[in-house]
Amino acid sequence: RAKLDARGSFAFFEAALDAKAQSRRKIEVELRDAIQHDVLRPYYQPLIDLQSGRITGFEALVRWPHAERGMVSPAEFIPVAEETGLINPLGGLMLRRACLDAATWPDDVRVAVNLSPLQFRGGNLLSMVTDALKHSGLPPRRLELEITETLLLEKSAQVLATLHALRALGVRISMDDFGTGYSSLSYLRSFPFDKIKIDQSFVRDLGANREAQAIIRSIVSLGKGLGVIITAEGVETEAELSCLRAEGCDEGQGFLFSKARPNVEIISLLAAQRGIDADDDEDAALVA
Ligand code: C2E
Ligand code: MG
Ligand code: MG
Ligand code: MG
Repeated sequence: RAKLDARGSFAFFEAALDAKAQSRRKIEVELRDAIQHDVLRPYYQPLIDLQSGRITGFEALVRWPHAERGMVSPAEFIPVAEETGLINPLGGLMLRRACLDAATWPDDVRVAVNLSPLQFRGGNLLSMVTDALKHSGLPPRRLELEITETLLLEKSAQVLATLHALRALGVRISMDDFGTGYSSLSYLRSFPFDKIKIDQSFVRDLGANREAQAIIRSIVSLGKGLGVIITAEGVETEAELSCLRAEGCDEGQGFLFSKARPNVEIISLLAAQRGIDADDDEDAALVA
């Protein structure tokens, strides 16, 4: 009887594994097809200067419009893309498209593109970036590349060399999701970042939670000391915003300002901001 149970639960376990593998396999096949048919698109979420309320740039976030499932979340397919190597073509098309779109925006508006650690292994990341810049005509200073702490875990000389080469092009390097890694502070010593993005988990509860506020205050003062721009991710409420402002945080990003939107909407958003400028009201801002 015990044997029967053991076999029974093993079979159940196997079936569950099977279902998971099958769903991954399905995503892989469909994702490969979506890349081939150029279906993936960047959506853009504004980055806001918290003092002036003006848009300083946009983060490009990949979107997959799926025939049956609607818009599929990157949380679902980025891991599959990383497991299957599809992250390299996906990353390449995001870079090219984001640079092309940004080249049509005003000259003081930047674009930020997320990079997977795996893109640093392929060996052609540097040429992917230079090609995207050359092809679009976007000046390197208008491109930001977001990396996460996991990239620096291994302290690889090759990764650091690539980061320095990218920065030598004039591209900015941001540390994304700051504070969620194993030893966040030590990574700040390995590379001179241009920007630190405080993970949204620290922004949550700001205003109600004294600990969260103390952590934000320390990161902001760290940023001032290092001469690095500090951006808060996931700003959702007015209370969070006024607290971030009071602490002197440079930039914010979050649903309070806007979710990520397609490029057509970005162009009218920026036109509206220019319209406000033209009205000669210096303090006016589109958002906030
Ligand atoms: P991330 O780079 O940290 O991007 C921020 C995520 O937070 C985005 O989710 C954005 O929609 C979401 N977000 C923005 N404001 C708020 C807010 O106020 N509240 C909440 N709850 N969430 C907010 P998204 O677009 O689902 O992307 C998730 C992650 O997938 C990204 O996190 C990034 O790590 C990855 N990702 C997205 N696009 C790409 C890409 O093109 N390449 C790579 N390698 N990774 C990507
Ligand atoms: Mg990011
Ligand atoms: Mg982030
Ligand atoms: Mg994140």
